[in-house]
Amino acid sequence: MAQEDVFKKIVSHCKEYGFVFPSSDIYDGLGAVYDYGQNGVELKNNIKQYWWQSMVLLHDNIVGIDAAIFMHPTVWKASGHVDAFNDPLIDNRDSKKRYRADVLIEDQIAKYDEKIEKEVAKARKRFGDAFDEAQFKSTNARVMEQIAKRDALHERYSVAMNAMDLDALKQIILDEEIVCPISGTRNWTDVRQFNLMFKTEVGSTADGASTIYLRPETAQGIFVNYLNVQKTGRMKLPFGIAQIGKAFRNEIVARQFIFRMREFEQMEMQFFVKPGTELDWFRRWKETRLAWHKNLGFGDENYRFHDHEKLAHYANAASDIEFRMPFGFKEVEGIHSRTNFDLSQHAKYSGRKIEYFDPETNESYTPYVIETSIGVDRMFLSVMCHSYQEEKLENGETRVVLKLPAALAPVKLAILPLVKKDGLPEKAYEIMNSLKFRFNCMYEEKDSIGKRYRRQDAIGTPYCITVDHDTLNDGCVTLRDRDTMKQERVAIADLPALLEDKVSLTGLLKRLHDAL
Ligand code: ATP
Repeated sequence: MAQEDVFKKIVSHCKEYGFVFPSSDIYDGLGAVYDYGQNGVELKNNIKQYWWQSMVLLHDNIVGIDAAIFMHPTVWKASGHVDAFNDPLIDNRDSKKRYRADVLIEDQIAKYDEKIEKEVAKARKRFGDAFDEAQFKSTNARVMEQIAKRDALHERYSVAMNAMDLDALKQIILDEEIVCPISGTRNWTDVRQFNLMFKTEVGSTADGASTIYLRPETAQGIFVNYLNVQKTGRMKLPFGIAQIGKAFRNEIVARQFIFRMREFEQMEMQFFVKPGTELDWFRRWKETRLAWHKNLGFGDENYRFHDHEKLAHYANAASDIEFRMPFGFKEVEGIHSRTNFDLSQHAKYSGRKIEYFDPETNESYTPYVIETSIGVDRMFLSVMCHSYQEEKLENGETRVVLKLPAALAPVKLAILPLVKKDGLPEKAYEIMNSLKFRFNCMYEEKDSIGKRYRRQDAIGTPYCITVDHDTLNDGCVTLRDRDTMKQERVAIADLPALLEDKVSLTGLLKRLHDAL
């Protein structure tokens, strides 16, 4: 099946099984805004718990905060967002559609890459084992021409983006003869800067109101609380502050479902270190965060680092963790060495001294910062994309199963009485009532057992137990494993320990701890 079709199926599965709905669905939705349904919210909360506990429980020098979404407007002046949090946008006059100029050009670069890849793949097939890719790329005239064009475009694009030269960006679009995918024409407007922050007003009357912003990242809530936390927590460097919360960006182009949203959630951790040690910590956090992802068992080959060549003016190193989505390797998390830029800017704009007194060296300095920043929704999407599977069964049927890591699954255990009579529902409820304080359980008695198993497979429930007539006599139930579909008889009394081992977040965290 084409990857595009797989992705479409995942999107409709998310809706059909109560994971993700378009916002304001009965009013036909709102662009790039989504609601999480009854199963989605559980999965999302489990992802957040996995992150939070891996930061705050596993590190004795990381603490959490929960800062407000509204912040003093000067925060965004100091951070540079008012002046520089812009995307270059361009409109097509015929389709009236709006695009990000940088995305149009990056798509064009990707087209060259695809052409080159196709030629390479063809040659590999032709030459078999004797194929030498490097040699082919440096000798085949057609490929060399494509590579030269691609590199020249990339170079021109980098220069234009670094200088934010809007005319140059437009000229590239014209020279490359990029057309609007809707109208097919090259009738473009000029490129303009577009600030991604949403504005609103505080104050009871419009007159006395002042403009404030919906935060475009959670990080600044941590920076402005650095002193509060350091002092009240008597924190010693190095230490970190973690936060999970909503962020808002007026993205020009909404694409790929919950990959790019206008309202989304971030999990960010700022790690404050002594100046000069930051690159070592940067390297360590890259590894620590990659281990967190890999620990979910999605396959090491599905991750890669993308080290940034072009750095933001405040950073001295940056890397993304990319995950293989059905639409290619995409950024899920960013790890940035932000120097002392943010704290120094806030010191300058607030007039406060924001420093750390180092008792070991008796000197004061502004700490450097390593940031790890991951989008909850993008993480959710990567979990969904990897877990969604269609399996051909021996009897020729296909089952749709979400092979979620058990610790993240919305429902851990479905409790199914074989029939709706003979005291089986009562027994099933009795079992559920003894387990529900520890595990998210679901009771289901409607339809055949087979149909009920399928419904649980579709929402990723790792275990189902069936209560039958024997249960009333022998105190055992049938435990069915989602992935292997194997069934075994187990004593009700053994269920808590067995489930704890297989589905708890603690187990996942212990594995991570051992891997680090
Ligand atoms: P992109 O280049 O994809 O726009 P970014 O580099 O601007 O992302 P950061 O500012 O580094 O992203 O934000 C950190 C993380 O927040 C990203 O890795 C991503 O997981 C998440 N994120 C950023 N923007 C969005 C969005 N519009 N919708 C969902 N998640 C987002």
